[in-house]
Amino acid sequence: MKEMYAIFGGNFDPIHYGHITSAEKLAQEISIKKIILLPNHGPPHRSKTKTSIIDKLKMIKIAIKNNQLFTISYLETKKNTTFYTIETLTKIRKKIGYLQPLCFIIGEDNLNNLNIWKDWKKILSLSHLLICPRIHIKENNSKLKKWITSHTVNNINFLHKKPFGFIFFSKISMINVSSTEIRKNYYEGKSSYGLLPSKIEKYILSKNLYKNL
Ligand code: ATP
Repeated sequence: MKEMYAIFGGNFDPIHYGHITSAEKLAQEISIKKIILLPNHGPPHRSKTKTSIIDKLKMIKIAIKNNQLFTISYLETKKNTTFYTIETLTKIRKKIGYLQPLCFIIGEDNLNNLNIWKDWKKILSLSHLLICPRIHIKENNSKLKKWITSHTVNNINFLHKKPFGFIFFSKISMINVSSTEIRKNYYEGKSSYGLLPSKIEKYILSKNLYKNL
């Protein structure tokens, strides 16, 4: 059996335990060999953040130091460029081929917005979608809901047997942390102790990050 890789894209502004711990638990649940963090400047359908990619990358590096599970992809870190998941996944597939099982990890909040992503249906022709439990307010529209149901599998083995094409809802417990909450804490002069590694908190404080929202 080929080893499973997973891509975890995000704004990571900043990276927090909701990302790191969820990813580690997913790796155990699904037997993922490597998780490739894919930080971006700010996805095209969301507002741009003010934090530099350099600071975001530094915080990611602090978070994954000495952790063999993670690696970083720099494919979406270029300035003033709009990146689309479908294009990045195509690039990754060209590099690793089409036989390697590959998951793209997203939180359940993001799944409900998937229909506004470029060529969203085609994502499953390049990877599986691995859904991480997360509080989500918006209801699925019926077309998206139907598409999700028709591609969802409950057996993890399917993800290993086919390189792409399935949606799997992870059974890991939800970690209720968001970058928004963390940014707000620092803006208000509060600590985010326990929500992200303390070394990242130190970095944020030393660089005076999130003083402007
Ligand atoms: P923001 O609060 O700024 O929207 P965020 O906390 O959602 O940020 P992102 O970097 O935007 O973090 O998220 C990257 C990916 O990680 C998304 O797919 C998102 O759904 C997922 N994610 C973020 N936080 C969690 C969490 N606590 N548990 C599971 N998935 C999460």
